[in-house]
Amino acid sequence: MSRDLTATREGQSYVTDRSPTPQARATVHGWPRQGPSRELKKAVEGYWAGRLTGDELRTAAAGLRRTAWQWLTGAGVAEVPTGDFSLYDHVLDTVVMTGAVPARHREAFDADPLDGYFAMARGTDTAAPLEMTKWFDTNYHYLVPELGPDTVFAADARGPVGQLREAVSLGHSARPVLVGPVTFLLLSKPVPGTPADFRPLALLDRLLPVYAQVLAELRAAGADWVQLDEPALVQDQSPAVLDATARAYGKLSGLTHRPRLLVASYFDRLGEALPVLARSAVDGLAMDFTGPAAANLEALAAVGGLPGKRLVAGVVDGRNVWINDLERSLATLATLLGLTGRLDVAPSCSLLHVPLDTAAERDIDPQVARWLAFARQKVAETVTLAQGLTGGDITPRLSANRAALASRSRSALTHDPAVRARCAVVAPEDARRPEPFALRSVAQQARLRLPPLPTTSIGSFPQTRELRVARADLRAGRIDGPAYEERIRAEIRDTVAFQEKAGLDVLVHGEPERNDMVQYFAEQLTGFLATRHGWVQSYGTRYVRPPILAGDVSRPAPMTVDWTSYAQSLTVRPVKGMLTGPVTLLAWSFVRDDQPLAETARQVALALRDEVADLEAAGTAVVQVDEPALRETLPLRATARPAYLQWATEAFRLATSGVRADTQVHTHMCYAEFGDIIDAVDALDADVISLEAARSRMGIADELAAAGYPRAVGPGVYDIHAPRVPEERELTDLIDRALLSVPADRLWINPDCGLKTRSWAEAGPALERLTAAARRVRANL
Ligand code: GLN
Ligand code: ZN
Repeated sequence: MSRDLTATREGQSYVTDRSPTPQARATVHGWPRQGPSRELKKAVEGYWAGRLTGDELRTAAAGLRRTAWQWLTGAGVAEVPTGDFSLYDHVLDTVVMTGAVPARHREAFDADPLDGYFAMARGTDTAAPLEMTKWFDTNYHYLVPELGPDTVFAADARGPVGQLREAVSLGHSARPVLVGPVTFLLLSKPVPGTPADFRPLALLDRLLPVYAQVLAELRAAGADWVQLDEPALVQDQSPAVLDATARAYGKLSGLTHRPRLLVASYFDRLGEALPVLARSAVDGLAMDFTGPAAANLEALAAVGGLPGKRLVAGVVDGRNVWINDLERSLATLATLLGLTGRLDVAPSCSLLHVPLDTAAERDIDPQVARWLAFARQKVAETVTLAQGLTGGDITPRLSANRAALASRSRSALTHDPAVRARCAVVAPEDARRPEPFALRSVAQQARLRLPPLPTTSIGSFPQTRELRVARADLRAGRIDGPAYEERIRAEIRDTVAFQEKAGLDVLVHGEPERNDMVQYFAEQLTGFLATRHGWVQSYGTRYVRPPILAGDVSRPAPMTVDWTSYAQSLTVRPVKGMLTGPVTLLAWSFVRDDQPLAETARQVALALRDEVADLEAAGTAVVQVDEPALRETLPLRATARPAYLQWATEAFRLATSGVRADTQVHTHMCYAEFGDIIDAVDALDADVISLEAARSRMGIADELAAAGYPRAVGPGVYDIHAPRVPEERELTDLIDRALLSVPADRLWINPDCGLKTRSWAEAGPALERLTAAARRVRANL
């Protein structure tokens, strides 16, 4: 490094060479869209319901943007983002910007762009919506663009230009943010019916003129800088993609009428894409330096830094809720100062992924609340870091930060000696069932006496309006605990009676007491905090409030045993106990960043192990531990995957291996394709696994068979995501189809997933037909 820059843990001095003082500024990549009280959700849903006109919706949205920019500027952000705001989803906005509206939506979109936009998101009677999938490894879902060899792009810059004009007219210094062309193409899927070898990336040369035009219009509207988000480049990409990246940014930076270009990446390290971007003529890079992306620091030094370019350094974790270690970030920034022409400070990614403000959380103990940073607190940290770097006196804030970090690391919440001691003595055999599957399955069959092709469900039954009312009544104090419990028991009675009548073989209690499969357990385990207003966007107008896993985890009392035992008392058929697995509990919460995830998973696994043991002791012969998120949290880079799969599958086995040979362990997975992690699915060593399979017509069953998967499988035959009740004939077809890859003595018959989003009018007949179909196929075995 050329200049003499030092940073110390004591924090006295970050820049010893103060001439010239660096001019670091604070910025953000994006901001929560919903507004302080989820005003956006209300406005959009109000528009859908006809309570608001299109103009009223647009006015409400503009008001939310204005408030957000004013707040950011007031907090010290030097350059506010525009275009990150969206009425539904920013990838869908990019579909509009590039003119890539699918043919089936074209007419409606041209007739009314607002209704056409929502039609693409939600579908209509005649046109299916775009598919939705997870945005990298976050819990945000975007709409998947559909492209084909015939796609004709056409620039429509009204959205990005409009938002920029608003910000500029309000006097803000603004930086439009767009999804970059390479990421846009990599996130797209081929339209149905295109040749199998078609790749959307092949459309790059057709797409670049659209970006050129949008950039020119943004420049004309006053944009000095434009940010192009390329998070796809933090995944392992082929030389072809890297070449395309070089070509794209070569062309865009070669334009004469263009703003300065900032290419942003986040969620992991840039890896082999870093030299490509560093060599290109773009004017700056925004990079993530948190979590696995911390490796960007060394890599940047290795390529000789970014001389003459602007670097926006993401040193404040934009997707978790913990306060920053300011001194450590200052040390990182001090190193980066020597590697770049101009250094700015930012959160690592858009703050879309965190709640708005910790100040709204009155129920969280203030001693704990001071360890938390939501979007507004992250901005304050970012501004502090920029000031510290520029020579400002931030000593009081550094001491407060140091004290808060120390209180977190010393707290009894984060250090429960009993939990620590128990984790420390976990031995490999604790995570292994002593008997092989072949022996277990004989013992289980002797106990359960199931027919061939046994039928079961995935756990939840319809969450009726009455159940939601009962929960609301309990919260509001209109009914007391015993009255609420009686309503739940009544629901369990109905659910068990229905299943007996329908002829299912392994019953469930139906999960009527569960609001959510993670929250229900988070409320009963120690170490988890609930927020009151910690909403984050999941997709469109759907927001979730993930629990915060803040401390050591233990289970003070049984969580599900009473309900399961009650259900079992009503029937002689086996009732399956239902738990959410350790990986899924982590994946759908904000997790600790002060210890390895593997450690947190192990604590959760041991707490679940206690629950499994209590279920078994209460007479439960079948226990299901759901892990729908196992595939979701797979690290973005392949090199990190084996370690993840190792601890993730070990946590599942630790939770489930303490049982007798004749207790049957089930697991369930959905929402993803598991074909590339079959070894991990196998490593769970579950006796029975149920999987989503109806839409792929048993695709996963074939993949498991091809891999020699040795245990029992229930590929879903009823697609619960569709309101339609399948005909018995369709179900027998799918069962016959499954029998081609799974032998009859290892095949289970079940729906794709839980039934909580269906009505009884749909789920009832569907399950009756499912058991009828199983009986019919059995008769012909
Ligand atoms: N047991 C849960 C249910 O049936 C599983 C939910 C899920 O897989 N997402 O609702
Ligand atoms: Zn499921």
